Amino acid sequence: MKIISNVEELRLEIKKLNAQKDGTIGLVPTMGALHKGHLSLIEKARSENQIAIVSVFVNPTQFGPNEDYDKYPRTLEADAKLCENAGVDFLFAPKPADIYDEYYFQNKETTLICPPYEVVNKLCGKSRPGHFDGVCTIVAKLFNITKCNRAYFGQKDAQQLFIVQKMVKDLNFDIEIIACPIVREDDNLALSSRNTYLDEKARCEALNISKALFKAKELFDKGIKESAILVDTALAVMQNLDVEYTEIVSLDTFEKIDIIEKKALMLIAARVSSNGSTVRLIDNIEL
Ligand code: AMP
Repeated sequence: MKIISNVEELRLEIKKLNAQKDGTIGLVPTMGALHKGHLSLIEKARSENQIAIVSVFVNPTQFGPNEDYDKYPRTLEADAKLCENAGVDFLFAPKPADIYDEYYFQNKETTLICPPYEVVNKLCGKSRPGHFDGVCTIVAKLFNITKCNRAYFGQKDAQQLFIVQKMVKDLNFDIEIIACPIVREDDNLALSSRNTYLDEKARCEALNISKALFKAKELFDKGIKESAILVDTALAVMQNLDVEYTEIVSLDTFEKIDIIEKKALMLIAARVSSNGSTVRLIDNIEL
């Protein structure tokens, strides 16, 4: 496995390897601090393509001014070991200056991809203005840099997955987006790099997020199709949490629905206090 930080070097190395292998390129974009959730995407990318690339980049343009950009866990050495063991060909780990130019650092502005307002101004996008512009921009840049045929995204970040799929369609990227299921701990906590922020008490409290989702799903499976009832049930489980949103949307359109008649998603974002600061966690379940 080669660890590369420079865009031109990566392009050259991909070209060389592709000349030997002549097959598809699979990309797994991540922000690092890799865990079993990421690993499931990486293993799928490895098994379905001749060339497997993982990117590790904590992307500044997707973080708001008061978010955790500076303290986001950076564990490149461990990430590299995990990727190497998974048979990854290239670990692309650029620095911000490899990805953004002087103009960006001077003016805090760059060319951005901005999904439609209605799509981003809800759920996570509501409390994180500009977040999905940053996500789409870095994902599009990674697509252009790697010229991948397939890119792997987790259903854990369901709104992100929906928006990336829309971007690919809207901008005619010739790339297949592969959606991968949420990987959970044995007690159902969804794996997340941000779980490393949780102290013991906070982790216990955070468990109520997945508990709320599974409880709502249980009721749904028993025949309750009214979103309001399912949302209230979930909120009752999360009384000890600072819930940012609990919503049920159509899986096809991501529009809010009142009565569930076709495939839907229940999504939750909530904050827990841990070690004197606040940790924002997200999770979701298909209904
Ligand atoms: P991140 O490093 O948090 O930006 O995540 C990189 C990719 O891994 C995204 O497509 C996430 O949706 C995916 N991912 C993160 N956590 C999980 C998980 N628990 N299960 C499945 N995919 C995940």
